[in-house]
Parts: sequence; structure tokens; C-alpha cells
Amino acid sequence: MSNLQKIGEVKDITRIERIGAHSHIRGLGIDDSLEPREVSQGMVGQINARKAAGLIVQMIKEGKIAGRAVLIGGEPGTGKTAIAMGMAQSLGSETPFTAIAASEIFSLEMSKTEALTQAFRRSIGVRIKEETEIIEGEVVDIVIERSTTGAQKVGKLTLKTTSMDALYDLGAKMIDELVKEKISAGDIIRIDKASGKVTRLGRSISRLRDHEVSGAKVNFIECPEGEIQKRKKQTHTVSLHEIDVINSRAQGFFALFAGDIGEIKAEVREQINQKVADWKEEGKAEIVPGVLFIDEVHMLDIECFSFLNRALEDDMAPILIMATNRGITTIRGTSYKAPHGIPVDLLDRLLIINTSPYTEKDIHKILKIRCEEEDVDIADDALTLLTKIGLETSLRYSIHLITSASLVAAKRKATEVSVSDIKRVYDLFVDVKRSVKYLQEYQDEFLYETPTPAK
Ligand code: ATP
Repeated sequence: MSNLQKIGEVKDITRIERIGAHSHIRGLGIDDSLEPREVSQGMVGQINARKAAGLIVQMIKEGKIAGRAVLIGGEPGTGKTAIAMGMAQSLGSETPFTAIAASEIFSLEMSKTEALTQAFRRSIGVRIKEETEIIEGEVVDIVIERSTTGAQKVGKLTLKTTSMDALYDLGAKMIDELVKEKISAGDIIRIDKASGKVTRLGRSISRLRDHEVSGAKVNFIECPEGEIQKRKKQTHTVSLHEIDVINSRAQGFFALFAGDIGEIKAEVREQINQKVADWKEEGKAEIVPGVLFIDEVHMLDIECFSFLNRALEDDMAPILIMATNRGITTIRGTSYKAPHGIPVDLLDRLLIINTSPYTEKDIHKILKIRCEEEDVDIADDALTLLTKIGLETSLRYSIHLITSASLVAAKRKATEVSVSDIKRVYDLFVDVKRSVKYLQEYQDEFLYETPTPAK
């Protein structure tokens, strides 16, 4: 086997899809009147918290709130992150959503405030209205051929349009699209010149017949301006942070991909803010406040909290959502204690949502959804046992057992996870309680045991 083939195989293996902890969450699972459904979009129970989160999403969508902050508080594993993810999904891809863990702020590469500023600016979108060329035309004739390699290509295309010149350099990009969209003669199509994307707008009424088409090349017929539209306004959204990076260095655009960003000068940001404000004034751009989610927010220190307080006052502030599983604890960087480890002045401006512990029924439903998500078939009694384990230990621990149990089942060539597979992985991987118990016993035996004098 040649080396090339081997490399090909390795690539195939790494293509296996990874399933994230929250990949089953597809929204908040609420109906139009903001009532949460018991099980929907991967979400189970936690009705009050989901309802409150849904209301906030609604307010964000209607542009009613900006510069507000929300705190989701609750015990570990009660779905705080899941709810934040659900909010992101319901806001849609047009609304910028940035998720970070508070500890990411502390790095040697940049100051805490720089890291927070970048996170804030990633969460503010600028919707730029731009004139890009869109060509609309009527397909007079199209013949799709197969080449010897089996690839499809357009043998001939005759398009009636006003923008003849624009089309000549579209080439292969557009041809693939024509094939994909199954365009046939008589269709009215729209072509985006930048991306080559083709959309079918409808069927022609004035179909031209018996038109001469020469050879295997694209052919155009000119038609008067106004008959078929040529240009349309288009918009696209970028984040303020992306604009910062692109403008901060000569190779700025590449820095976006390399992740090698470093600190961005305050003057650059000021100029960009001014520019964006001008675009807004001239009707060229719109600001889209997005969402910044900070998990484990009790890990921030007093300086970060005072930064947040000030940043939320800004005209262009996003919605800040924070989550914590701490009760009354010390505010980092001080010797004071406060609820959730957050200074009272910041707490005072927060909308607080609480999550509550799960019932056995909820755990059962969540585990069932996770099995489906991970493509694991599980016997009913095995799922019941896994639920019991979840109730005794933690939801997270029982979720983790799914994949390992399915590997054990696969090893014995079974297609379904059984009670014995669950028992096996329960013995192999200990939960926190058992781990602590084991270490305590271990310590007693080997480290701190005072030798008893021999009799
Ligand atoms: P921590 O305080 O430890 O950060 P958390 O409250 O953020 O915990 P999650 O990470 O959201 O907890 O939940 C643990 C797992 O359970 C995740 O895989 C999550 O997607 C899933 N999960 C939690 N709640 C729900 C729910 N209501 N519906 C569906 N899945 C859930």
C-alpha cells in the first residue's frame, strides 16, 4: 500500500463526528406564547428557568433590552449552560453569541480587561448593507452533460439577462450551482456574483424557443435594462472584534484565522467605533447587540467585576449572561463574601434565574435524549439503572457512562447496552463520592496511620 493511501485512511478516521455535551440542545423548547413544553428541542423540565430565559430571548429579539445582565444560578449539573445554549439557538445565527469560562480571562498573553473587551466586542454585530452584484436572468437553454470522470458539467447555457459582462468570469462555480439547483430551461434564476450561488425564482412566462446554441459553451442573449433586475442590496454581519483585528495590523485578516491577536490598541478601537457610528448615521450599517455568556462567573475577580459594571453602561453593550453554582462565597481579589461571589452593586442590576435539582423522571428523559444523540441503543432496564445512578451521583456522571457502556457492549458484539454493561463501567469509572471515599481510606492506610506498637 502506498503512503498516500495510508494518509487517506487516517484522514477518514479523524472525520468521526464528535458529540458535544450540549449537542442535543436545539432551542429552549417553548411555544409561541412562551410556554415551555415538557420535552422539546432536547430540553427537559426546568420549566420556570426556561420560561424566564424565553422571555429574555423575546426581549432581545424585539430590541427592547441592551446592556442588561442575567445571572443563572443553581446546583452543578442543573442545566445552566444548557439553558444559555438554548437561548443562543433561539436567537438564531444572525445574533452574535460568545461563550467563555471566566477562567479564560486570566492569561499571560493579555490583560484581564483586554480579554474581557475582546469578548464583549465579539458579541456585538455590525450588519453592513452593501451593494453586491446580483444578476437575474431567464434560462433559455441548458444542457447538462457527464464528463468521462462522471462529473457533471453544463454543456450549454443560454441566459437572457441585462448583465452580460458580469457572467463571463463566473465559470465553474456557477455551473456546479446550476446542476445542484436542477435549473432547467424556462427558469428565472438569480446569481450572486460574489459566491456564485444560484437561486430559482420561478418559471418563465415568455419562453423563447428554437434558439440557436453554439458548441459547448455558455451563451448569452442581451435584453433591455429594466426587463430583468440586475442589482439588489445585500447585508452581512461581522462582529466589532473582527473589524478590530482586521484593522489592527497589516496582516490582520490572517490573524483572525491564526488566533494570534494580542492586545488591540485603544486608538484603533476608538477609530472603529467612530467609523461604525458614521456608517450607522449614513444608513450603511446597523448595530446588532448579541449575547456574551460567562460560565463559572465566580472565578472573576473584583477588577473584572468593576470592568463589567462600566462596560454595561456603554451604548454598544451586548446582553451579558452569567452562570454560577456557588452560594455565598468570597469575591476573588477581596476578603469580602457576597452572594455567588459577585459584588452587590453588580448583583443589583442583574435579572436572576434559578435552576432547580432534577427529579428521577427528568433524569430518565435527559439520559434517553443523550442516548439518542450519541446513537446508543439501550435496554429499558439498563436505562432505569443509569437513571438511579444519576440520581445517586450526578447527572453528568451518568451521561458520561453512556459512551463507555456502549463501547463495552460493542466489545461483546451486542447492539444494545444492557444492565451488565452499565455495571461494568460503573465499576471501572468511579464517581466523585466514591473517589473521595477511596482516597480517604488510602490516606488512612498509607499516609497518616500511626503505627500501633507491637504487643
Ligand atoms: P455546572 O454548574 O457544573 O457548570 P450546569 O448547570 O451548567 O453545571 P449543564 O452542563 O448545563 O449543567 O448540564 C449537564 C449536562 O446535562 C449537559 O450535558 C446538559 O446538556 C444536560 N442537561 C442539563 N439540563 C438539561 C435539560 N433541562 N434538558 C436537557 N439536557 C440537560
